Amino acid sequence: MSEMIYDLAVVGGGPGGCTAGLYGARAGLKTLVLEKLAAGGQMADSPLIENYPGFPEGLDGYSLGDLMRQGAERAGAEFRYAQLTGADLTGEVKHLQTDSGEVLARAVVLAPGASPRPLGLPNEKELIGRGMGYCAACDGMLYRGKTVVVVGGGNTAVGDALHLAKLCQKVYLVHRRDELRAPAPNVKALESSGVEIVWNARPAELVQGEDGRLCALKVQDVHTGEIRELACDGVFAAIGRVPDTQLFRDQVHCDKAGYFEADETTRTNLPGVFAVGDARAKAVRQVVTATADGAVAVHFAQEYLAGVEK
Ligand code: NAP
Repeated sequence: MSEMIYDLAVVGGGPGGCTAGLYGARAGLKTLVLEKLAAGGQMADSPLIENYPGFPEGLDGYSLGDLMRQGAERAGAEFRYAQLTGADLTGEVKHLQTDSGEVLARAVVLAPGASPRPLGLPNEKELIGRGMGYCAACDGMLYRGKTVVVVGGGNTAVGDALHLAKLCQKVYLVHRRDELRAPAPNVKALESSGVEIVWNARPAELVQGEDGRLCALKVQDVHTGEIRELACDGVFAAIGRVPDTQLFRDQVHCDKAGYFEADETTRTNLPGVFAVGDARAKAVRQVVTATADGAVAVHFAQEYLAGVEK
């Protein structure tokens, strides 16, 4: 029996990947979406998404991801939960190695997303699960009634601080500048949230208690060098993301920061390989731009598969 070859394999089940799955299946392509954990990708870590059109009350990222998966499956896309371990994307038939076997496909949409950037402090890894965290939506409940510090000044940090302010007794937001990057409505919400913002400060040391758990974050004023110790039960880092493109960098061209080089067509340097979502080099990384990428990628994948690429 000949081995099954999918028309389209999608790597990653975040918003870009789910949309590629939906559009691929609706275009009549035999479509597989590979996801390592659960649909939604990084979006699943977001406690509240208020800027994805169609949900006037907002929605948590996990639920939105699950709805996207359901839509793609209903259209006929197959989902497989497996970890990608290797890939050969150079030939006409693309080979994807996973921990549950090899997948073959004629076209591939890469939607691996990105992972939280670590603070880069010496004992950070050791403290993961013992006070150090990267996902307020997942772990916030563990800190109900306690004191936490969020580090960062972007959309994620402010969203996390607002979420934690509803659960925790005290929330600090530590930011290295005196201005937040997050959009105005979120900054405004922060003003009345009770969150204490520690401006112009960088995380300097994670202090470990005798029980091995994190008990404080030392921060350093970027101007004066002064150190302040913030006693806390947990620290959430929200200082941006790094693209999960490592497995592909020897084949697919990436920029200096590791993002796939693909323009608005989502085409990469390899024929039949498309890059979508937050792992693609682009100016605006939002759920809505990731879903848009997914639709665009399938348009060009169809042209490629039909041999009518312009
Ligand atoms: P981001 O916008 O890149 O913000 C990262 C923040 O961390 C910045 O404030 C940055 O400071 C700070 N930072 C970076 N490196 C640091 C370091 N080494 N030490 C201390 N602070 C550091 O990242 P993000 O908030 O994760 O957002 C990523 C993208 O996703 C953005 O496009 C954002 O709009 C989007 N997003 C959207 C939603 C939503 O729409 N609901 C939710 C979350 C994220 P500076 O400001 O000084 O550079």
